[in-house]
Amino acid sequence: MILPILKYGAPELRTVSKPVDSFGSELEKIVKNMFDTMYSSPGIGLAAAQIGLNIRLATIDLSVGEDENQRIIICNPEIISAEGEQKSDEGCLSIPDFSDTVARPLKMVVHGQSIHGDEIKIEAEGLLARCFSHEVDHLNGILFVDHLSPLKRSLIRNKIKKLAKAGEW
Ligand SMILES: [Zn+2]
Repeated sequence: MILPILKYGAPELRTVSKPVDSFGSELEKIVKNMFDTMYSSPGIGLAAAQIGLNIRLATIDLSVGEDENQRIIICNPEIISAEGEQKSDEGCLSIPDFSDTVARPLKMVVHGQSIHGDEIKIEAEGLLARCFSHEVDHLNGILFVDHLSPLKRSLIRNKIKKLAKAGEW
């Protein structure tokens, strides 16, 4: 099922999500809906907070549904170590039509749990590392615009305010 994605301004996007503590059929349903929603947008990553569920869960697929092997489901992710830096244009499904250059670690090791609650460890590099960094931010109520300069951030905020006033946000 494709669910509506919350947009910038929604309080759920500013909430620190709670750990996933039950791994059953309900979680499987949520994950399926998250992939459906992510692919329909389309996007390469989605945090549960973006569909209004404040649990530490994210889905990632750099192939956007083209390659099943690239599907990543991670519960309670933690970035254990990070190194290097990459700067590149970044956007967010919750802030559609806006993007800007964001610095992220180049490489990282992420620990977390699978959909069944098993421990998993992922070594990520490049775009995947960017994606993990972005999604873990979401679970802590942080958005990519928070990494921009105050000036750039207020420009985006003002544009969104105008769109909201016009009923287009
Ligand atoms: Zn995002």
